[in-house]
Amino acid sequence: MARVYNFSAGPATMPLPVLEEIQAELLDYKGSGMSVMEMSHRSKVYQQIIDEAEADIRELMNIPDNYKVLFVQGGATLEFAMIPMNLKKNGVFDYIVTGAWSKKAANEAKKYGKVNIIATSEDKNYSYIPDCSDLPVDDDADYVYICENETIHGTTYQQLPNTKGKILVSDQSSMFLSKPCNVSDYGIIYGGVQKNIGPAGLAIVIIREDLIREDVDPKIPTYCRFDTYSKNGSMYNTPNCWAIYVCGKVFKYLKSIGGLSAMAKINEEKAKIIYDFLDQSKMFNGTVEKQCRSLMNVPFVTESAEKDAEVVAATKAAGFDNLKGHKSVGGLRASIYNAMPKEGVQALVDFLKDYEAKNS
Ligand SMILES: *Cc1c(COP(=O)(O)O)cnc(C)c1O
Repeated sequence: MARVYNFSAGPATMPLPVLEEIQAELLDYKGSGMSVMEMSHRSKVYQQIIDEAEADIRELMNIPDNYKVLFVQGGATLEFAMIPMNLKKNGVFDYIVTGAWSKKAANEAKKYGKVNIIATSEDKNYSYIPDCSDLPVDDDADYVYICENETIHGTTYQQLPNTKGKILVSDQSSMFLSKPCNVSDYGIIYGGVQKNIGPAGLAIVIIREDLIREDVDPKIPTYCRFDTYSKNGSMYNTPNCWAIYVCGKVFKYLKSIGGLSAMAKINEEKAKIIYDFLDQSKMFNGTVEKQCRSLMNVPFVTESAEKDAEVVAATKAAGFDNLKGHKSVGGLRASIYNAMPKEGVQALVDFLKDYEAKNS
């Protein structure tokens, strides 16, 4: 077995102890005589899996009782539509556009109402988070939307926007469970799980109860109504049983290492290793304004696209995978999610240091 250091932006690296546990349980889950992927979602044994997954994420994030946890198929992208569909009252939606994902979400919301872009960092290719302390929030806005960590551009909010009393909706896909989070600051927190938690094809939606309404447009597909999920324990139909099972394992793993504050400390240490290197390097430059840097996605460039490609090839040959940057930023991107060990980040930085010494 030769596992590489996988810096993929998503689907992404998973904790090895979790993969090993899944492997051990693959053929016979806890004496059930079958694999979780062969199991009825209506069985007692599966009900326990989903119940424990919910209880564990509630404990990890300290989710208040007046919030529901929903397991929804369709990834984060389906939420781009479900959110405006289900939250629509006045039909006015305020978006802060800080990168490709919030832009996509805003464009999708236009199908369901009037979208105001109340702030954007598009002028500098989304390399910073704008000041959100006093934005022109619409009096009629049904919510204010952010992507809290822009996966492609590598930016994150240091401070949540002042929504002037409006509901805050946050896409946390690429920072889910990376640090403690005060859930009651939000109306909805959601994310696709394949960046920082588990396998693709599942979104977790943490939603304040009063935002789950029954008086939504009756033309909304049953499957896209939040109340369909809340009334049926996320099992109106067959859910993504496998992904929920794996996420549950990751929740238990995070609990075992000390929860989200312990995870945050490790993530800060990892990010410091790579940012400290970039700050003194003459060959590699971070593309994000320092105070807006993500702990999870670290984009950086050399002086030319040719050199970037050479470095990507060299890293790959040395056992570091998926470092090619997204085409809209270019260069390289190291995604250093929860499951990327500190040794992986250190090994990458050692490699880049050595590469710079030999090639300059
Ligand atoms: C990856 C990503 C998405 C899209 O996730 P899917 O599950 O593929 O739909 C949305 N938002 C952010 C911030 C992402 O990183």
